[in-house]
Amino acid sequence: MSRNPDCIFCKIAAGGIPSTKLLETEEALAFMDIGPLAPGHVLLIPKEHYETLDVMPAEQAAAMLSHLPSLVRAVQAATGCEGINVLQNNGAIAGQLVPHVHFHVIPRDPGGTFTFNWPAGAYEDGQMDTLADAIRKEL
Ligand code: 5GP
Ligand code: ZN
Repeated sequence: MSRNPDCIFCKIAAGGIPSTKLLETEEALAFMDIGPLAPGHVLLIPKEHYETLDVMPAEQAAAMLSHLPSLVRAVQAATGCEGINVLQNNGAIAGQLVPHVHFHVIPRDPGGTFTFNWPAGAYEDGQMDTLADAIRKEL
């Protein structure tokens, strides 16, 4: 198990820093976020240290993400929230403060304080197909 001694989520995974755990397997851990965007805000992490999702092996990601549906159901049932955002901030520019992969499970209710902007844009002629080709080549 590769861990980073300076990483706060590695310390949580190793039990060196206390957390309110929800589920734990060999590969994954879910615990309560200490600074919730809404009551019931949960984090799901791999126990192994990966800074961002793009460097995670697919098998490790799959093992972690296999818990996402049940976690979403549990948060929804326990909080009675109307909806949920699953969010993964990948990289500092995307708002990632803790450089250890984590998925946020955030309850949403009318009048909740967590909102975000969704400024949908539009492609110029041909731009979408060009980008799709470029992305396909990288897969
Ligand atoms: P990010 O901005 O990196 O996507 O989110 C990091 C999240 O980790 C934040 O929501 C923050 O509240 C949470 N967090 C940071 N430090 C701790 C901690 O020591 N314990 C717990 N439970 N959550 C933490
Ligand atoms: Zn870590």
